[in-house]
Amino acid sequence: MARCDVCGNDYDKAFTVQTVSGGGTFDSFECAIHALAPTCAHCHCRIIGHGAEHNGIFYCCAQCAKHAGVVGIDDRI
Ligand SMILES: [Zn+2]
Ligand SMILES: [Zn+2]
Repeated sequence: MARCDVCGNDYDKAFTVQTVSGGGTFDSFECAIHALAPTCAHCHCRIIGHGAEHNGIFYCCAQCAKHAGVVGIDDRI
């Protein structure tokens, strides 16, 4: 049994996630995303896809990066 770091749920199928900036124990991906996923610097949505990074700032997509004035990032179509 392990307790979720986000909601405190005690769940026998809880799992741990480790990232470069930390990690934790979670009962669901929703809680893991809430705790660990970066936020888009432009639209403030949670980045759960690959996203785009420029100078350490994360964007959910190339379109948001463009809106923020970043050049040279394009989604591959
Ligand atoms: Zn949870
Ligand atoms: Zn965005």
